[in-house]
Amino acid sequence: MFIRKSTKDYLKADVKDISKLLTLALDQTKEQLFSNPGYELNDIEHKTLNNLIKQRTNGKPFAYLKGSQGFYDLDFVVSPATLIPRPETELLIDIALDTFDTNKKISALDLGTGSGIIAITLSEKFPSWAITATDQSNDALKIAQINATNKIDFYCGDWFDALPKDKFDLIVSNPPYIEDQDPHLHSLKYEPIEALISGKDGLDDIRKIISQSPEFLNQGGYLLLEHGYNQKKQILGLLEESFVNIKAFKDLNKVDRAILAQLR
Ligand code: GLN
Repeated sequence: MFIRKSTKDYLKADVKDISKLLTLALDQTKEQLFSNPGYELNDIEHKTLNNLIKQRTNGKPFAYLKGSQGFYDLDFVVSPATLIPRPETELLIDIALDTFDTNKKISALDLGTGSGIIAITLSEKFPSWAITATDQSNDALKIAQINATNKIDFYCGDWFDALPKDKFDLIVSNPPYIEDQDPHLHSLKYEPIEALISGKDGLDDIRKIISQSPEFLNQGGYLLLEHGYNQKKQILGLLEESFVNIKAFKDLNKVDRAILAQLR
């Protein structure tokens, strides 16, 4: 026998994201929730909510409980096979919008697409582009395919190894870039570790992408990368050999976060 509890009893509880968890358990919007605070949960809703509370309290991110997360102006299905979209990654879309003419047809490649947020948002903003996206995880690619709103060519494999021989005008990536001993990793324990860490200094994958990109870029093509807060200087050094017109960008928190470079 469950004790009858109402929405407002739960809203008073000291539980992270309790109002969002209530919206999930009751399948209501926040407006519906707050307009009827005396609503008494039935047994099934009570059970569902307590199960969600348990998982959230154990640290499972809300996006995995909901199964989706907003990015730019779309909502994306996410699963534990994919990273949860971060607001700072929206910077890559803003840079693309500032750099490229929306009417020009170009071919773009998103390396390590995960849930597909970059490739799919670009396909919405630049409908004439031919877009290819890769990931080494088949499970992630399945999610990206569910999310895709336009035609995107998906390939499974390790960075450029995934691709048939081809060249692109833009290569974009939010690769793993966290140091493998970073003390903050425990707070990301629900997300796929292979999408987060990249060797001792977090730069193993970025080094690989920078060194192989010239082979896969058309003349004058661009490389656009997201990176960690302390990696700008090293990445500028890595780009020097083959790239020109290098521009660094900060995210909304004024943290160094992305670099755009053009093939020399
Ligand atoms: N920006 C993410 C974080 O700090 C990391 C994502 C990544 O490694 N690409 O949690």
